[in-house]
Amino acid sequence: MKDEHKLMIQTLMSRGLVGERELKDIYKTIQQRCEVRDSPTLNEFKNIINKKLREVSMEIRQKPDEDTGEQKYALVQTMESDLGKLTTDYLPQQLELFKKTVGLIMDSPEGMASSTDILNLKLERLTKQDAQETLNKFVKEQWLNQGEGYVWMTGRSIMELEMYLRKTYQPDKCWHCKDMVIKGQVCTQCEIKLHGYCLDRLFTDRRRVCPNCGQHWS
Ligand SMILES: [Zn+2]
Ligand SMILES: [Zn+2]
Repeated sequence: MKDEHKLMIQTLMSRGLVGERELKDIYKTIQQRCEVRDSPTLNEFKNIINKKLREVSMEIRQKPDEDTGEQKYALVQTMESDLGKLTTDYLPQQLELFKKTVGLIMDSPEGMASSTDILNLKLERLTKQDAQETLNKFVKEQWLNQGEGYVWMTGRSIMELEMYLRKTYQPDKCWHCKDMVIKGQVCTQCEIKLHGYCLDRLFTDRRRVCPNCGQHWS
């Protein structure tokens, strides 16, 4: 493997989740530093690395961010990852918290769990304060997002756990793009679910009506 490939892999490993614009800058820097003469596009570069990563069952994957729609990139395992092997630097009780949090998220129609509910999960060997610290660590390492009293999954955890999520929960499909949607918006009338960014695209004429049932979208 060439230096530029290693550097890209290391960067993705340490960053967890990187947006497209940022990744383009990182790629430019790598090209300069490693004096890459032939310059494949970012996509070609990604494919070259993925070919090399195949033997270690890893892959660079991309997926639109469920909030903004911006492409996000992460290095993930291609073998089915169960939650117990998410990363090696968590204790079993911390991974149990993550698993229960994912369960709460997947059981909620809009794909978000309340922080209070998570902290009230009674887990062995994990005080409320431990739970809060663990949650913060998952957010810092870009496995979870947190805001306004809610917690939801990042592209990193969705890409890493896609097979597990599909098998365990049968996640919803976005009405518009047909891709899996975890955090999204639900029509209160006909209950279709869409990514926030897909809904924004459909609302460009400022008429906030459901694309399926035509009722006002509240
Ligand atoms: Zn969508
Ligand atoms: Zn509707």
